[in-house]
Amino acid sequence: MPNPQEPAAAPADPRRWLVTGAAGFIGSHLVEGLLRRGAEVTGLDDFSTGHRANLDAVAAAVGASAWSRFRLLEGDIRDAEACAAACDGAEVVLHQAALSSVPLSMAEPARVLSVNVDGFAKVLEAARQAGVSRFVYASSSAVYGDETTVPAVEHRIGRPLSPYGASKHLGEQMARLYDDCFGLGTVGLRYFNVLGSRQDPDGAYAAVIPRWFAEFRRGVRPAIFGDGETTRDFCPVEDIVQANLLAGTGPAEAGGPVYNVALGRSTSLNELYAMIRDLLAAEGLPCGGWEPDYGPFRAGDVRHSRADISRAREALGFTPSAGIEEALRQASGPISG
Ligand code: NAD
Repeated sequence: MPNPQEPAAAPADPRRWLVTGAAGFIGSHLVEGLLRRGAEVTGLDDFSTGHRANLDAVAAAVGASAWSRFRLLEGDIRDAEACAAACDGAEVVLHQAALSSVPLSMAEPARVLSVNVDGFAKVLEAARQAGVSRFVYASSSAVYGDETTVPAVEHRIGRPLSPYGASKHLGEQMARLYDDCFGLGTVGLRYFNVLGSRQDPDGAYAAVIPRWFAEFRRGVRPAIFGDGETTRDFCPVEDIVQANLLAGTGPAEAGGPVYNVALGRSTSLNELYAMIRDLLAAEGLPCGGWEPDYGPFRAGDVRHSRADISRAREALGFTPSAGIEEALRQASGPISG
């Protein structure tokens, strides 16, 4: 099990990094991981879904000396000037900023496409003009769309099932184009279901794990859509940090490669529910005997999702955690958002 205090990958060399979406769940963990390894980090965020409290938690965790190597720019990735200022001097970009919710993209497709496609293009172009040497970006298992073969392999994708999935697919196309045409070394990381501390539990589009923690703590029995035998490949955020650092520092592979990032394991919603319930019951919450509140299956939900991670293992040297129990323990802590 990785210790968040210890480097999970090589020290951060090169030293000057840009993290877009730095105030978000994953972005704040990347900032923390880089500062711990001695890097200088610029963060760009417009706080549309991120929280200052996430960065406050990073400052507290890394200490004043490491925190002095962080510079925050508040701005929108759709603003070319903000992107240029953020990329100035950066050697590696870790592009995370996005509106990252499938249901939000069904409710407000134009808004999500604007941030995730136009904003993506603006960051890419600023990186090219600034002479950035590596552009690593967050893609998603949503790119697989209606291709439901398990395990998911990178070269076999289907039609997107949502504007969010389409936006992530378009991001991959644009990044490959910039690699092929302009020699910007791009690497796409298709994250599966990420878990860890600082994941937002609030709002209509909150991810399942922080929402369930919050509901158990409020004394509400969480609901499961369907019979609970739906499976996902949950991945600790520390492994996402590891994959980004490896992609940012490793040897360049031509053609703008894309890698699955996950554990390569299935966890059913029933198993996840029981792990969270038992963790909180051990803390003294009176939820020990609670069974899930089963409801109808939700339209559009894929039944099973699991990644083949052999490409990331071979090309990046990615070595994921043994399981999700430790990450769940960290996710159960007080929410800073
Ligand atoms: P998050 O919402 O916590 O973080 C996104 C950050 O981007 C926020 O801080 C937000 O304020 C910022 N942002 C949004 N629009 C912006 C804009 N126009 N300009 C500047 N900043 C902006 O989400 P997350 O879970 O940390 O996701 C990070 C990335 O990982 C996203 O690209 C997401 O699509 C991808 N991803 C996440 C998961 C997951 O399970 N969390 C899975 C697959 C892919």
